[in-house]
Amino acid sequence: MADSGTPHAFKVIIIGCGPIGLATAHALHAAGIEFVLLERREKIVEDSGASIIVWPHTLRVLHQLGILEQALEIGDELIHHLTFNAEGHAFSAGRRWERVRLNHGHWALAFHRSELLELMYNALPLQVRQNIHTGKDLAGIEMNEGGVNVTCSDGSTYHGSMVIGADGAHSKTRRLMRSLALTSDPSRCWDPEHPFVASYRLLFGSFPTASEPGQGYDTHSQDKSIAYFSGKRRGWAFMYDKLPKPTCERTEYTSDDTESLAQEFAGYHLTETLRVKDVWPTMQVKGITDLHEGIVQHWSIGRIVLVGDSCHKFTTHLGLGCNEGIQDVVVLCNGLRRLLGKSTKGSPGLSSLEEVFQAYEQLRKDPIQSSLIFDLETSGFETRMHTWSSYSNWILSRYLTAPSFMDNVVLDFAISPQFQKARVLDYINKAEPMNGKFPWLHNMSP
Ligand SMILES: Cc1cc2nc3c(=O)[nH]c(=O)nc-3n(C[C@H](O)[C@H](O)[C@H](O)COP(=O)(O)OP(=O)(O)OC[C@H]3O[C@@H](n4cnc5c(N)ncnc54)[C@H](O)[C@@H]3O)c2cc1C
Repeated sequence: MADSGTPHAFKVIIIGCGPIGLATAHALHAAGIEFVLLERREKIVEDSGASIIVWPHTLRVLHQLGILEQALEIGDELIHHLTFNAEGHAFSAGRRWERVRLNHGHWALAFHRSELLELMYNALPLQVRQNIHTGKDLAGIEMNEGGVNVTCSDGSTYHGSMVIGADGAHSKTRRLMRSLALTSDPSRCWDPEHPFVASYRLLFGSFPTASEPGQGYDTHSQDKSIAYFSGKRRGWAFMYDKLPKPTCERTEYTSDDTESLAQEFAGYHLTETLRVKDVWPTMQVKGITDLHEGIVQHWSIGRIVLVGDSCHKFTTHLGLGCNEGIQDVVVLCNGLRRLLGKSTKGSPGLSSLEEVFQAYEQLRKDPIQSSLIFDLETSGFETRMHTWSSYSNWILSRYLTAPSFMDNVVLDFAISPQFQKARVLDYINKAEPMNGKFPWLHNMSP
């Protein structure tokens, strides 16, 4: 099958229909930019058992995309916080979730990942959804003067003006970029094939609610830790385990690995009364993944650019990976929209696109203008502190951050100033849906 496309219309080819690919589809549609989205899986919505915490700055973007109201209906507010040791002794009762609401005007919300994807997909008009094709595994990208040709494993080809790789941590787009770069100049310095390093693995799963909704709890111990969230219908448990040695490889875990790691956590507490072994038999979907970390050096080449996990990967302790991916989409689409608004003579050329991609990458990597670097470092630090990776991290976990006022200090002096920097789509004017003690630095209406 060949997709002829309109010869001179600007068209984006998005690879991957995870949350970031879908956010890109929304943002491009709102900008009036034509796109086609290619997803390897046969189904857009598959239940992986994971949750996604969405922070207020991302809820603002959902508001711009017209899906905040529905999101609030399916998301679960996180309200209570406690920290335990492995024996179930609660040694910290912070007010972090309340502080988030005070500082930014809304609670953080926990979504079942597949429900968030379903919401985002269904919110696209039917006609636009027809541009999303499943069973399309990216196989090759060829760049020429006027655009790109994308080939899938089933032999289908798509012609467009540029490619956005939203195909996750093991991105094929990123690997094809690398091979294009090294083919044109073998001596060129480029990211390694596996650019992220994992020092921890994560056993995760969801089960029918087993405790009061609104709990966002932690359990800290040597080399192992847990994050537990409870919603109205589901609970989600995330069990972190230090790897014997760091790895860049992609490890495929079996169901035996899952059961055996669950056994190691069986006696650990999720709440004062609930242990892992109490919920494990009711676990509906479960799995293990290595927690790769890093930011790739090269985010684009020619007409190809990366967003989301394909260019940065965090540990999941602070629930920021997807939130940061949405920021990529916002900054990139603002740039593309501006470029296309300026271009009077058909499709913009390669050099104009490269300028937009470079400005996007520079902004995202700038620690003053963007929270990306801070979030990568803080997420990794949080994982190491919760797993007592050093004597100083044990002191921090057990004593220095344990008093309840410390949550306010961390939020006010570290996290909230980063959330404040979050960007919004500069071509969608809407009334601000949430305001708190920390004003947003980028407004969504003039
Ligand atoms: C257990 C767990 C909990 C998490 N919790 C949070 C959280 O609370 N908050 C948060 O912000 N982040 C969280 N994250 C991180 C978050 O899930 C990721 O940052 C986010 O999913 C990245 O989205 P993405 O669309 O870039 O990549 P992905 O979600 O990986 O999606 C990539 C898509 O590309 C498709 N694809 C891959 N290869 C190809 C190909 N060759 N051709 C076509 N399509 C392809 C895949 O099938 C997939 O649909 C969590 C991660 C995990 C593992």
